[in-house]
Amino acid sequence: MQATPGEFEIIRDYFAGAPRGEGVVLGIGDDCALLQPPADGLLATSVDTLVAGRHFPADADPAAIAARALRVNLSDLAAMNARPLWFTLALTLPHSDAEWLRGFADGLLQTAQAYGVSLVGGDTTKGPLSITIQVTGGSTAPLRRDGASVGDAVYVSGPLGAAAAALPLVLGQKLAGDSERKEAQRAYYFPEPQLATAAAIAPLASSALDISDGLLADLGHICEQSRVSADIDLHALPVAAIARQLAGEGALELAACGGDDYQLCFTVPQERIPELEQLGLEAVRIGTVIEGAGLSDNGERVRAWLDGERWFPESAGYQHF
Ligand SMILES: [Mg+2]
Repeated sequence: MQATPGEFEIIRDYFAGAPRGEGVVLGIGDDCALLQPPADGLLATSVDTLVAGRHFPADADPAAIAARALRVNLSDLAAMNARPLWFTLALTLPHSDAEWLRGFADGLLQTAQAYGVSLVGGDTTKGPLSITIQVTGGSTAPLRRDGASVGDAVYVSGPLGAAAAALPLVLGQKLAGDSERKEAQRAYYFPEPQLATAAAIAPLASSALDISDGLLADLGHICEQSRVSADIDLHALPVAAIARQLAGEGALELAACGGDDYQLCFTVPQERIPELEQLGLEAVRIGTVIEGAGLSDNGERVRAWLDGERWFPESAGYQHF
């Protein structure tokens, strides 16, 4: 792999005017960044790679790609109730393209500023387009996947199905008007990391994660880690308006199984429900945690119900970018 000198400097220069965030003793420019961990709490860290043609179309708007790459990582911090602090970026680029890089840097800068997270290091390499971001946050009250108990209520933080309904438009597989296409781009490239909701529910929730692969699959991860199972009432699912608009009757299935919305799924013990309801969140109760005994780790731990009958998705699998 051959390095492409000079390219990262474009991003660095672009970021030079950005305010230096919390805990950054020494940022980009030396062999390492020097960072001051928060005085209390834990560091939460996560890394994610997006590959062109697999996670986003190669010809997509670079600012949108950057926004999505960072937002998706920030969503993992939200899932653990960690406050965003720092991130590093590794970019693999097929060729030197200053215009693409400026667009990418612009999208990254805007997103970083919006969420108060500082870019503290980076690397570029020549090769097929891919983006790796590692984020680090601080948490005094981390949320985890392994704390759900039988009887807990299952909640989602907001509407589901938008990104999955948007994907065919984003990929150009389905034609749409200007306003629909814009809304689809927003749903897919600009998911909202649920940081405020995570902070609000942290004292009450027994478990949480962010929904990246689809509600039923991701709730299954909570169930596996917590050694429980869950019943979900599909009538209770908050289905995104754009999903109904674009997918009609298929919207419910997209809300249950489609990914990329980055809402939170979380559980709350019965006795804490009144406090949760008082918070005035958009969160909706969709089910209940039940006994998981007798189920293997690979067993179906999440049972979806519709009008009193077990419900199974019609589609065998979902296309995720
Ligand atoms: Mg996650």
